[in-house]
Amino acid sequence: MKVHNVFLEAVGTKMDQYPAEGLPEIAFVGKSNVGKSSLINGLINRKALARTSGQPGKTQTINFYNVEQKLLFVDLPGYGYAKVSKDHRAKWAHMIETYLLNRQVLRLMVVLVDIRHEPGEHDKMMVDWVQANGFTPLVVATKADKLSKNQVQKHVGRIRKGLSLKESPIIPFSSVTKQGKEKIWEAIEEALVQ
Ligand code: GDP
Repeated sequence: MKVHNVFLEAVGTKMDQYPAEGLPEIAFVGKSNVGKSSLINGLINRKALARTSGQPGKTQTINFYNVEQKLLFVDLPGYGYAKVSKDHRAKWAHMIETYLLNRQVLRLMVVLVDIRHEPGEHDKMMVDWVQANGFTPLVVATKADKLSKNQVQKHVGRIRKGLSLKESPIIPFSSVTKQGKEKIWEAIEEALVQ
């Protein structure tokens, strides 16, 4: 998709603050610092529309970016800050779960993992959750430029095993080289026509 026009359409923490359901939605989720903002900005050819790294303890919101009046990119808050309280974690889970379970226009969940690391408990939970709700997750393995080509394939295998993923795709991506960008767009466009 050629992307020229993108704007932040809505920011919220509750269903009634989200845009009226109309355009199809592609949601992005992952551990904080995994490279989610960099991926979103890379896909829409912007340097910094999506915010970089929320601070621990900062209000976490769901941000909806309107892409070409054709779809919405939904930036879900990151998980996995070691320091956040139980209460904070419960709020996060509630917000994500409510979004996932109620949004009819959700077409694809993009789950981001850092290509260098074994998937963590939250990553597994997220992927299982997405599958349990009838979606095929698109796993994007970020920061691929930090590994050699050989290592990339090896780590993709490790991530697949760690997440117990059989057929769902895992696409290595780098916001530095833009490796993987076309493939991710293809997967998004495929999800839009389903
Ligand atoms: P978020 O918290 O998931 O939104 O992560 P950010 O997009 O803010 O990225 C966190 C950090 O990782 C920043 O310092 C980025 O510059 C860096 N980063 C993100 N993606 C990449 C990538 O593909 N390659 C490299 N080398 N660094 C990246």
